[in-house]
Amino acid sequence: MVEISFDSGATPAMFEPAAESMPREERAELQGKRLCGLVDRLIAAGGLQAGRLAEAGVTSGAQVSLDNLAELPTTGKQDLWDGYPFGLLAVPRSDVVAVHGSSGTGGRPTLVSYSRGDITLWARMCARALAAAGAGPGSIVHNAYGYGLFTGGVGIHQGAIELGATVVPVSGGMTARQVTLIADLKPDVLTCTPSYAIRLGEALAEAGLTKETGLSLKVGVFGAEPWTEQMRTRIDDLLGIRSLDIYGLSEVIGPGVASECVVAADGLHVNEDHFLVETLDPVTGEPTGDGMAGELAFTTLTKEAMPLLRYRTGDIAALRHGTCECGRTLVKMSKVTGRKDDMLVIRGVNVYPSEIERVLLAESAVAPDYLLVIDEREGRRDLIACLEFGTHSSGGSALSEDSAREVLEERLRETLGLRVDVAIVPPGSVPRTEVGKAVRVRRWSGGEPPVPGLDAS
Ligand SMILES: [Zn+2]
Repeated sequence: MVEISFDSGATPAMFEPAAESMPREERAELQGKRLCGLVDRLIAAGGLQAGRLAEAGVTSGAQVSLDNLAELPTTGKQDLWDGYPFGLLAVPRSDVVAVHGSSGTGGRPTLVSYSRGDITLWARMCARALAAAGAGPGSIVHNAYGYGLFTGGVGIHQGAIELGATVVPVSGGMTARQVTLIADLKPDVLTCTPSYAIRLGEALAEAGLTKETGLSLKVGVFGAEPWTEQMRTRIDDLLGIRSLDIYGLSEVIGPGVASECVVAADGLHVNEDHFLVETLDPVTGEPTGDGMAGELAFTTLTKEAMPLLRYRTGDIAALRHGTCECGRTLVKMSKVTGRKDDMLVIRGVNVYPSEIERVLLAESAVAPDYLLVIDEREGRRDLIACLEFGTHSSGGSALSEDSAREVLEERLRETLGLRVDVAIVPPGSVPRTEVGKAVRVRRWSGGEPPVPGLDAS
């Protein structure tokens, strides 16, 4: 583990200590009050959520409490699509100062509106996340999240300013320029997707910039795609930093919904004074207990422009209550272990890409970039894990390519109960991400293989 020297090893200061370390009972009272207020606002706004509340027999915020939260209606992605672009507003259209969202993979955009108050809240939440990572006034934040409709870049940008840090708004891509900026400006904090952190780490190493030669980075705040502990180890080794997870989605506010502290780095503190969190059984919608994996659902207690009641995210994680060594009392969520939509069904077996990643990256000879190919040629339904042997990995494995392939296939079969073929492809064959999120799964229904060097037989 890498020592970080922010504030000479002392526990970093919280951005909003009163809220972040509030006793749990006191916070519950605050959440309850805010929930009543939210329900009143939704009813006053009319529209879809007011209609659902009426159907559930709720005509006033005074009727609801944290205890009967599970009886309230939920919302989902479909509601945002149906309400596109401004159908879910709880404020006049003229109070919207910004929009964010996603362009939509299937061509269906998701649009989220922000009031001035929402933007301020968002900046504070991202400032909390950066402070939890050990940053403070004067820290330099190299922000390589994409800027635009996507919330990553702008969210961290505003948070860094709110914290009083110095933000370098480099956005994604143009990796050579990023290497120069890191060498020249000597940032402490790197913010981007974990897959881009790998790409950047490889580029920095190629340029001769490592911890040993004076790479300044101390900590990384990575999110916007699910990633495993094994990936964390890889990034830490590659960049000589502490990697921390940050979670958010535009529907709820963007990054800053939850983030890890550098002190414990074992789960993400959810800013539950603003985003009330539950885990639900993905099929039945019933709440799962503390420590049980389920679909994350958030109620945006204080958002103004587009507040959502029990928004079902599709992300699978578990919640854990308790006081952290950092002093925060905010509930922790585990890393997201998968997305409901990302689940692959291979010959009747359900498997999340992250489960495969965990097995693959535990083998140190394997490079951190990989691609899962679903071979659908001629009615097949096979899974091929395409890997490279590492050039920048911590190494230490004496395995030959052939024995590595055998060992990994055996471990995958044991862990997943599924046969996964492992193909070791030439270095550089697996597509790297230049902007934003990595593509980890590709379908192959015919023609050229999706990875050069993959045997088409
Ligand atoms: Zn903590």
